[in-house]
Amino acid sequence: MAGRNHLYIPGPTNIPDAVLSAMHVPSEDHRSPNFPKLVKPLLEDLKKVFRTEKGQCFVFPATGTAGWEIAITNTLSPGDKVLAYRFGQFTHLWIDLAKRLQMDVEFHEVPWGEGVPLDHLEARLKEDKNHEIKALLICHNETATGVTSDLPGVRKALDSTNHPALFFVDGVSAIGSLEYRHDDWGIDVGLAGTQKGFMLPAGLALLAFSQKALAAREHAKCPRAFLDIHDHMVHNPGGYFPYTPAVPMLYGLKKAVELLLEEGMDNVYARHARLAEGVRRAVGAWGLRMCARDPKWYSNSVTAIVVPEGFDARDVMHYAYHRYNLSLGAGLSEVLGKVFRIGHLGDLNELMLASAIVGSEMAMLDAGIQVTPGSGIAAASEYWRQTAAPLAARA
Ligand code: PLP
Repeated sequence: MAGRNHLYIPGPTNIPDAVLSAMHVPSEDHRSPNFPKLVKPLLEDLKKVFRTEKGQCFVFPATGTAGWEIAITNTLSPGDKVLAYRFGQFTHLWIDLAKRLQMDVEFHEVPWGEGVPLDHLEARLKEDKNHEIKALLICHNETATGVTSDLPGVRKALDSTNHPALFFVDGVSAIGSLEYRHDDWGIDVGLAGTQKGFMLPAGLALLAFSQKALAAREHAKCPRAFLDIHDHMVHNPGGYFPYTPAVPMLYGLKKAVELLLEEGMDNVYARHARLAEGVRRAVGAWGLRMCARDPKWYSNSVTAIVVPEGFDARDVMHYAYHRYNLSLGAGLSEVLGKVFRIGHLGDLNELMLASAIVGSEMAMLDAGIQVTPGSGIAAASEYWRQTAAPLAARA
């Protein structure tokens, strides 16, 4: 098919040309005296994206899933109780992984389309007088449903009950796109992958540990080897890794972090919020609803759109891909066929996202869903036009 593929799945996201070029490097000796010039500032700058000064960042040649495991095995012991809520495919998978690592997982079902129920959490923490709950597994942004949970609210629940549980955050589809403040929100382990807000291929797990989480490692009895942060703590200060690093990915990460910091993290969050609102306006104009059940759950990095009863969202994706070269995100597991998703995170602007809205509209019509042609893009574009930053007068 002529022309490019329009990639609007919620990760992997589009890779900026500057990042692609930065990764185009010859092989290099990762034990050379020069190598720390890449690694040391990279680990420091990464802290600015996680917004931590007190914590320590780690980079593993892995993905977000390994990040879940790194958080657990480096701080906990088999049989420890962890508390989680299940409201989408990724919360489901983290719970499953924790069980396989022999955690005593207490999890509560929450309707898909909602997020962490703060009232329940606070009540449960209050009830846990003996502090049996050792950690909270909190998914900041459930990518399967387009639901963002309130992390400061989680911190408040821990503080108001004076509960010492470790606060783990899956920020895979959030960090680098949605507001995330590791220190201010008292997060103990925050984790991300490179293929979403960081605008890179998948391949690195990125983490920030608080001092409390680092101290927990001393007593954590979970077996760990390749994913032990200790080996990184030994090698990273000198600017090295305990094993052969994915060097081109590190150069790409350096450039991606530079781009984020040049834009400014607050501006990055604001851009995502504004682009996401345009998508939500489009959904409203189509007369459809989002999987996220209430505005307080709306995600600024991905929108899951519910197709009307009697239609299969997979048909929309089929037409989008085969007729218009547009990749949309599928509904996963319990919402398979019920939703399709537009990913709006990473290297993105209005007109790029316009292609996802127009293509979704065309594909829905092809699949027999009677939306008014042009209605979605009219609503989104008008919102973006009216909220565009003012320009200086033309000379
Ligand atoms: N957590 C969330 C919220 C995700 O969206 C994903 C992947 O999409 C993961 C975890 C798993 O990450 P990975 O596929 O990089 O292992």
